[in-house]
Amino acid sequence: MTMTEALIDLQGISRTYRNGELSTTVLHDLNLQIRQGEFVAIMGASGSGKSTLMHLLGCLDRPTTGRYLLRGQDVASLGRDDLARLRRETFGFIFQSYHLIASASATENVEVPAIYAGLQRLERRERAESLLTGLGLGERLRNKPSQLSGGQQQRVSIARALMNDAQIILADEPTGALDSQSGKDVLALLAQLHSQGKTVIIITHDAEVASHAQRLIEMRDGRILRDSGAVPVAGAPSPDNPENAPSPAAGEHREQAVASTLADAGEAVRMALRALRANVFRTVLTLLGIVIGVASVVVMLAVGNGARQEVIERISSLGTNLLLVRPGAPNTRRSQDGSTNTLMPLDAELAGQLDNVIAAVPEMSGRATLRAGNTDYQTQITATSPALPLARDWPVARGVFLDEEDNRRYAAVTVLGSTVADNLFGAGADPLGEYVLINNVPFQVIGVMAPKGATPWGADQDDVLFVPLNTGSLRLIGQRHLNSITVMIDDLTQAEATQEALRQTLLQAHGGVEDFQIRNMASLLENVADTQNTFTVLLGSIAAISLLVGGIGVMNIMLVNVTERTREIGIRVATGARTRHILQQFIVEALVVSAIGGLLGVAFGLVFAAGLQTLGTAIEFTAGPVLLAFGCAFATGLIFGYMPAHKAANLDPVVALSAD
Ligand code: ADP
Ligand code: MG
Repeated sequence: MTMTEALIDLQGISRTYRNGELSTTVLHDLNLQIRQGEFVAIMGASGSGKSTLMHLLGCLDRPTTGRYLLRGQDVASLGRDDLARLRRETFGFIFQSYHLIASASATENVEVPAIYAGLQRLERRERAESLLTGLGLGERLRNKPSQLSGGQQQRVSIARALMNDAQIILADEPTGALDSQSGKDVLALLAQLHSQGKTVIIITHDAEVASHAQRLIEMRDGRILRDSGAVPVAGAPSPDNPENAPSPAAGEHREQAVASTLADAGEAVRMALRALRANVFRTVLTLLGIVIGVASVVVMLAVGNGARQEVIERISSLGTNLLLVRPGAPNTRRSQDGSTNTLMPLDAELAGQLDNVIAAVPEMSGRATLRAGNTDYQTQITATSPALPLARDWPVARGVFLDEEDNRRYAAVTVLGSTVADNLFGAGADPLGEYVLINNVPFQVIGVMAPKGATPWGADQDDVLFVPLNTGSLRLIGQRHLNSITVMIDDLTQAEATQEALRQTLLQAHGGVEDFQIRNMASLLENVADTQNTFTVLLGSIAAISLLVGGIGVMNIMLVNVTERTREIGIRVATGARTRHILQQFIVEALVVSAIGGLLGVAFGLVFAAGLQTLGTAIEFTAGPVLLAFGCAFATGLIFGYMPAHKAANLDPVVALSAD
């Protein structure tokens, strides 16, 4: 075997650290060849650059100058993902301080490199458990690192290094933190790996430890001081230990990657749940922000839509096929001056003769004092025509309504609104045929209206009493002019034309003076609906702001999370995670939090809104706001999770590993 066929070939390697102005050269012009199957110890005092060299060898770090050929290929020519693959498949790291993920069990720690290699879950678990069992940890599979001794933790990290069947084992002071017996066990394990054909490179400052290796390289101040030289590899390379370690073809890899994308996502969600469980209190706080945000969006929109629906229903109950004529010039408020005396009964008759008009109902109102038996009652009387029940879509519950004959005869008959009937005669009594004194004039009750309910502005429409127009005008109210004319139209599509015809007719009757105004219920409805929409949007915006605050909470927590788990990220990168894996992991964590928060928020929101509904608030449940709120929560997680995830994915692995 010639030197160019070396597994590892360092040519003139140097490494300079730069911290601002200060630059320290740690490795100087290093030349080193290591062949397949060697057992090498690199020895040197603390600070001589051993770990730096190890990071370079393991492709966790790049040399400042010089070339590193791995199996003849220049490592400098490899991209991030190719380097990740090398770390995953070719190298197995064993660290002095074990570098296990604290929140994961022994088995889960060992599984990590296989996750990134895309191995199936069951297969992975089986292999991890058999490796651990082989290392004498069969009883400790579910233990967390904190429940294991140093020696046991180091064996877990050895199992992890072996997980992907790495050909090169890099051990940085693997016995440094162990008692002498555990240290001996670990060294025996390494010797055994070597005898199985692995290339083992061990770093130590201890001559005793170094003596276990076949080849000793001594370092001082970043230079190689002595090299005992390569010894012939014991035994010929076996077929399962080929010159060029098996590295599956790139195409095969891509297929595997596609196939494992789904499995990846499932794995990422499981990891996220584990990480979130590891810090329950923080997770709950984060959730709270999202839950409150989502719940308030759901409640606010349900209330807003409910209010809108209620107003629309009330207005619709007045009838949308109505034109309302009132005295006074257009766009003025009604006042007490003479301008309100402009609408006459003749106007109602003219209106009733127009095309497309079913009925024109004149109304004249005033206050009156009623008396029946010993009961006095103040209410509003409305003098009107027989068409009122039709135009106002307001049936008579008992008896009959006023008719033309009553009007012609100036009859003293009346029809009671349900509130008036209840107040004068008591609820449930039958007032038909009874007499009521209206301003001391006796009127006979001929009918009782069906209850109509409140107007959009909350007035009780049933607190009224109807009399014939002529009777009311002459005997009760003492005026000739009307307070309004309600015009019921037939074909709604012709509403505008009919409104204009009505205007022209009235203009003519009023000698060209527009001292009346015509309002269209349909357009009024539109206006009100618009106003209510604005109200709903306003409520929604307030809720959205709280969701935004929740999102910022997620980002905050995730940033803390990344900072706190820097070392874990370093470990994952050292065991072969790609940038994409790290990015994905932290985004998935943010998404899982937001999704759980979103679901809880929707549930709380619906329960809260239902509670409000039972208390009498108008609520309208629709799928839209619920999906919107949940979608927003999810998007919040994605947007606010990206920054921390990006930060995590771009950490320098060497720096991340040395974080505490
Ligand atoms: P060893 O593992 O042999 O103890 P290291 O390779 O860890 O030595 O470190 C060699 C030298 O490089 C030390 O003097 C150390 O302070 C320095 N060093 C290591 N890492 C950095 C860094 N990121 N920035 C600056 N100096 C560093
Ligand atoms: Mg070191």
